[in-house]
This record gives sequence, C-alpha cells and structure tokens, in this order.
Amino acid sequence: MSKRVAIIGAGVSGLTSIKCCLEEDLEPTCFEQSNDIGGLWRFTENIEEHRASIYNSVITNTSKEMMCFSDFPMPEDFPVFLHNSKFLEYLRLYVDHFNLLKYIKFNTSVLHIEKAKDYSTTGQWTVVTEKDGKQECCTFDAVMICTGHQIEAYMPLESFPGLEKFKGNVFHSRYYKNPEGLEGKTVVIIGMGNSAADIAVETCRKAKKVYISTRGGTWVMSRVYDSGFPWDTVFHTRFNNVLRNSLTWLLLRWLTEKKMNQWFNHENYGLVPRNRSLMKEPVFNDDLPSRILYGAVKVKPLVKEFTESSAIFDDGTVEENVDVIIFATGYTVAFPFLDKSLIEVEDNCVPLYKHVFPPHLEKPTLAFIGLIQPLGPVMPTAELQARWATRVFKGLSSLPPESTMVTDIIKRNEKRIKWFGTSRSQSIQTDFITYVDELAVELGSKPNLLMLLLKDPKLALTIFFGACSPFQFRLRGPAKWAGARNAILTQKERIVKATKTRVVDKPSDHNLFSLLKILGLLVLLTAVFFALAQPFSSPSNATVMD
Ligand code: NAP
Repeated sequence: MSKRVAIIGAGVSGLTSIKCCLEEDLEPTCFEQSNDIGGLWRFTENIEEHRASIYNSVITNTSKEMMCFSDFPMPEDFPVFLHNSKFLEYLRLYVDHFNLLKYIKFNTSVLHIEKAKDYSTTGQWTVVTEKDGKQECCTFDAVMICTGHQIEAYMPLESFPGLEKFKGNVFHSRYYKNPEGLEGKTVVIIGMGNSAADIAVETCRKAKKVYISTRGGTWVMSRVYDSGFPWDTVFHTRFNNVLRNSLTWLLLRWLTEKKMNQWFNHENYGLVPRNRSLMKEPVFNDDLPSRILYGAVKVKPLVKEFTESSAIFDDGTVEENVDVIIFATGYTVAFPFLDKSLIEVEDNCVPLYKHVFPPHLEKPTLAFIGLIQPLGPVMPTAELQARWATRVFKGLSSLPPESTMVTDIIKRNEKRIKWFGTSRSQSIQTDFITYVDELAVELGSKPNLLMLLLKDPKLALTIFFGACSPFQFRLRGPAKWAGARNAILTQKERIVKATKTRVVDKPSDHNLFSLLKILGLLVLLTAVFFALAQPFSSPSNATVMD
C-alpha cells in the first residue's frame, strides 16, 4: 500500500510536492485553507488572514526559462518576466497538465500537526484540519510543509521612537495593493527590499513626495542584463558559478562592485550597500534609478525619530508633513500549527538539514518545502527539494546521523552569514546553482558533464555555458523527462521569441557587409600566413645573394 502524505498549502511548493509524490507512487492529500491554488501568486483585492498578500503590479524577478518547473516549460508566447496573473496562469496549466486538482482539499485549514501515538515505530503524523467549522483528525505517513515564509508581517515599531505620536497612516507593505489613496500625499517607505522599491516606483506617480529610508542600502539590478538577456540566464551559468567560486574574496568583491555600478553609480544615487562585500539579495527594479534621477523618489538614511507629522533622519535632515509611513520591512517565518519541539525559529532562522529536514526527529517524515530564498528562482529549487524529500519518505534516499546534520546546519549558517550577512531578510538566503546541485546529487539527477562531453558535446557545452535552467535536472535520475534535452537546446530561442515580436528582414547591404567582413578576414589571414612564412624563406635568399 502506498504511503499517505499530507501537503500543507497549494502554492508553488505545495503543487510541485503533489506532483513529486505522484512520481514516487505516494498518495498525496493537499490541504489549502483558501478556495483556490497559487498561494502568494494569487492576487486578491482583499487581504486574507494567514495568507500571503501581494500588490497588483508584482512582476516576477526571475525569468520564465529559469523559474518554470523542470518538465513543464512555459508557453512560448508568455513574456520573459511575468505579471503575477500570468504566472498564476502557468500554475493552472501545470495543475491541469498533471491532473493535480483532485488531490487538493480547498477551504480546509490545518490547525495542528503532531506526532502520531506510534510515531517512534511508524514515523506517522496526526493532522487536525477544519472545514466549515468541522474538525477532522487524520493520520499520514509523512508531512510536507509548503506554507511559505511571507505571511506574517514584520514591523519593528519599537525601533522607531516617536512613532506612537505620528498622526498619519502607518501600515505594512503586505497591506499595499495599489497607489490609490496616496494621491498628493507625502510617503515615507521604511526598508530597501524589492517591496520597498516596487512600491516607491509605483506610488511616486501619484504621491506628492516619496522617500525610501534605508539603513543598509542595496545593489539595484535591472532584469535586462548583457545583450538584453534576462539577468538570471546570464548570471546563473555553470561557467560563471565555477568562476565565482574560484575567485578570491577580494577579486570577487571588486568584480561585483564593478558590475553593479556599470548601470549607474550606486553611491551617487544614495543606494550603495553599507557592506559591499556581501552577496545580499539585490533589488530588481528597472525604474528606480530613473525615478531617483528625476527626483520623484528620494533615498534617505534610517529614520531616527518620528513626530506627529514629520520624520527626522539619521543625517539630521527633517521631512515635514508626512502623511503615510509604509513598513516594507519583510516577514517573520512562522508555523502556528507546529509545536516548538518540532521546529524552533530563532532570529528568523530555521534549523533544517539542507533547508528541508529537521535534524532531531527519529523518523525523516517531516519536510519543509520552499522555505528558502535562493539567489535565483524559487520554483525549481522547491521542486528539487520535493523530489528529494519524497525519495527520503520512500526510503530510497537516507539522511545522515543527527550529529552530521547539525554540523552541516551550523557550517551552512556560517557560510550564509559570510556571503549574505546577518540581516533577518537574509535568514534563509542561499546560493542557487551550488544548492540545487547539492539536492540533485542526493537524487542522482545532477548532469554528468564529462560523460555528456563525450556522448553529446553540444548539450554539454550548452549546459556549462548556457543558463542553468531546471531542465538540466530531468536528463537523468528518477522521473527523467524525454523533452529535457530539447528544452535545454532551445531555451535561448524561446527567450528571444518572446520579445522578437517584430521580425524585420536583414537589410540587403547587411549581406554585402558580411561578405566584406569575410573578405577582410581572408586578407588578414593571408597577410599573417605570409608574415609567418617570411623567416623560413630568407636564409635561401641570403645564400643566393652571397
Ligand atoms: P525584505 O527583502 O525582507 O526587505 C526588508 C527590508 O526592510 C530590508 O531592506 C531591511 O533592511 C529593512 N528592515 C528590516 N528591519 C528594519 C529595521 N528595524 N529598520 C530599518 N530597516 C529595516 O522584504 P520585502 O522587500 O518585502 O521582500 C520579501 C521577499 O519577497 C524577498 O525575497 C523579495 O525578493 C520578494 N519580493 C519579490 C518581488 C518580485 O518578485 N517582484 C517583489 C517584492 C518582494 P536590512 O537589509 O538592513 O535588514
């Protein structure tokens, strides 16, 4: 009889977990408290308690070839970066294609999860749910927690003296939906993450003045990278990853700074990070620099104090007549349905083995999926976590002893702090390629480049120098996908196709120009050939002369 798995949440991580359970012949039941799929990616006008909330204008900051699931590329006519509604459309296509809907119990909240009575022998869990006011208690062989980490707003009110006196409107970015109501207002946004930047750029079209107050600054990147390709398809190549991991810290820092300042000088825009050597998650915003350039958004240091109507900044400057303060200060990781003995969140950090398994449980039957912030796409990362977790549930992959897992967690955390710093917004941050490769090794689905170089050099070179897209992890190992090779070899074409919506014939003089270039090259090669041949012919000439 196949094992029963409870999946909590039908967002990105929950949906792919259902699919991964099916791949391993497990029997999934997904509990979703709302009436629809999509989790964070399903925009609603109203804010639902215990559910993530996004603003209307959210656009993905990873591109479609990088953020799709590994055996389900996005439709060719989808844009490269997607509006949240378009990404939700993709999730609906995924659910339909793999027939996942029937495994989801909607309008069902999980109240409590605890070890079943005979847990120490069976590893089973008791899951208490509620639907229409009726509670139900069921036993499962394993549980996958897929509730995300952007539900509980973090609002450090105590860090801002005088805030209690402020007479205007104060709210968290979770409650921001669109700029309506901010017309003609003076707005101060606290924080400098992606939410702060998006909200500033959007509200400044309507508001009178918009200030972003940041204590640490940030690198701001454009989604448009070298030669117009999406940033992640250029940044996340295996070649670049090898390079990044083999450079000295100083050289890497120098190169990063140089690259980040290529678009605009961060110091001149008041954005430069306090600690430049960190690889902290950057802000992706194509409009912020131009808004700063024409004075619609002003970057300020931390607010030292608020009064009834003003903000006093750390540098002593004062902004009078402030109407609205928006705390874009991030989120707190929380699992209200889990006992602290199962998982203890400290300083927003969750001690999990490879970001998936609590190390101290006798049985590896509880997994956290998508509790991660990779410097890259979350979706394929969560998918690999789910593929690995389901193999562990089945006993096809095993975890090391508790002490090894604890040591790994400590070391990983030290590395995280070294790379990304101690900010709570970086508490579940990780590298992308190195981490997904690690999971793929557990699964046996990491591409074998040396072998491929012999068997299929074109594919091997595309994998090494091209974008590290999710299809790479379906070439081998369990549940491999026959379409993976083709998807990898055509990913660049698909990116271009999405933007090349106007195709123009090459001008006739283009051919002439190409011909001239070839002729020029031939002349150059001939000249080089004769120049090299010259020394060998001179001695005989010399003899004749003598
Ligand atoms: P966030 O990334 O956690 O950023 C929080 C910001 O608040 C940071 O700049 C942080 O500064 C600041 N902050 C926290 N506590 C503070 C304090 N006491 N005083 C002053 N500043 C404080 O939050 P977010 O921007 O809401 O983003 C959450 C996640 O959603 C991120 O992973 C983000 O990439 C993602 N997101 C994605 C999109 C998109 O795809 N388009 C849009 C929005 C958000 P420090 O860094 O100095 O701690």
